[in-house]
Formats: sequence, structure tokens, C-alpha cells
Amino acid sequence: MTVRGIRKETLRLLLQMGRDAHPNEFIAVLTERDGVIDEVNLLPGTVSNEDSAHIFYDMMPLSTHVAGSCHSHPNGVLRPSNTDIQFFPRTGRFHFIIGYPYRENDWRCFTPDGEQCRLGVVE
Ligand SMILES: [Zn+2]
Repeated sequence: MTVRGIRKETLRLLLQMGRDAHPNEFIAVLTERDGVIDEVNLLPGTVSNEDSAHIFYDMMPLSTHVAGSCHSHPNGVLRPSNTDIQFFPRTGRFHFIIGYPYRENDWRCFTPDGEQCRLGVVE
């Protein structure tokens, strides 16, 4: 399935989740339907910081509809850490990082090798 975008409400929800979790980090698995990312699946457990968040990548559900992941960077850095790049390839093709202060444009999308990629926002 070619993923062509993320639903606007889904992106809003992710930013809200970032605000709610702040100053902690959250991580979620994103699934798509008909090529649009429209579902956020929180992984079991509570996440408290950058290190523990990444443990949850190992618990990814195996579904053909998994499009990627999203996690927050409470420090506001919209770039993948070295740890992120190690884990991205296990988790689908599109990896969102949202950062403090979690405004509408405080997010980026990355490929599994950590390159920034453009993904449309679908109304
Ligand atoms: Zn990270």
C-alpha cells in the first residue's frame, strides 16, 4: 500500500498527545487505511523519557497496515536521535517526530534511514 498522507485530525491528535505527555515522551504506532494514515495505536505501558520510549518499538504489532510510528521530543529537536535511526527500520516506512511546543507545524516525517520526507496532510 502506498501511503500518500496523514489525516489532519490524526496529526492534530498526535500533537495533542505530545502536549498531554509533556515533559515526558510518548510513542505510538500509526496505521493507514486506503493509503492515508488515520489511526493512532498507543502501545501498552507508560513512557517516561527518550530511553524508555524506544523500548516500545520492540512491541510493535505486526500488521500489514502499520505505516510507521510517531513519538515526541520534549526538547523540541525535530530530528531523529541515533537511537531513533536504529529503531525506525523495524517499524514501517514513515516516522513522525513531534516536538515542543507542539504547534501545528512542530512535526517532521522521516524515512527509516532518517532522511526527512514530505507527506501530505489530508483534510
Ligand atoms: Zn526520539
